Amino acid sequence: MRLRNVKGSREAIAENEYVIHDEESMKGKWHELFGNDNPIHIEVGMGKGRFIMDMARLNPDINYVGIEKFSSVLIRAIEKQEVEKLPNLRFIRMEAEYLENVFNNGEVSYIYLNFSDPWPKDRHAKRRLTSVQFLARYEKILSEGGGVTFKTDNRDLFDFSLEQADEAGWSKKTVTYDLHNSEYAEGNVMTEYEERFSSMGNPICRVEMSP
Ligand code: SAM
Repeated sequence: MRLRNVKGSREAIAENEYVIHDEESMKGKWHELFGNDNPIHIEVGMGKGRFIMDMARLNPDINYVGIEKFSSVLIRAIEKQEVEKLPNLRFIRMEAEYLENVFNNGEVSYIYLNFSDPWPKDRHAKRRLTSVQFLARYEKILSEGGGVTFKTDNRDLFDFSLEQADEAGWSKKTVTYDLHNSEYAEGNVMTEYEERFSSMGNPICRVEMSP
């Protein structure tokens, strides 16, 4: 993702009520924060937040937490949430490597990974959000019966992710190499990147998997 330095974004985020600032102190307290026992779903690397905002609007009985490491992108999601004020949506600016410091074992019911950065060099494979290292982190925070949905147009990254799921002993519930022309197309909520890449003619791959 090409990133511009958005002036003042750090300051705006620091003051925003929808951003959790001391995220590690929230570990084990997410249901308390939302004020209900509804399941908690997270999107890791949410970018400008279109997907998670659409999901939060469509599913008021699910709590959503969007995770993004860059202020310059997160600010765009915050601007939209400032207008909509969805009660079941919060954001964290953080590096996903530290998810286990922020969510208790079993605290998260579902994880979405959309168009994650490919990290094409072999030596960076463990930084990919679908590497066995990340799958182990997700496994800890996921509740019984929880899972991960991963979408991408990057076939190499997708094949790598399926292999990593096998290596981690995860099971795959559904796999498609062309989501928009598949039996799973109905009800699919598009992300910003998905819209961009599918309009260029790239097929979208998707896997639903669980530990
Ligand atoms: N999910 C969005 C979509 O589909 O439109 C954005 C996709 S963009 C290619 C990937 C996003 O993930 C970027 O905004 C990037 O900053 C964020 N990201 C990548 N690695 C991350 C990590 N380890 N922790 C938190 N955010 C991450």
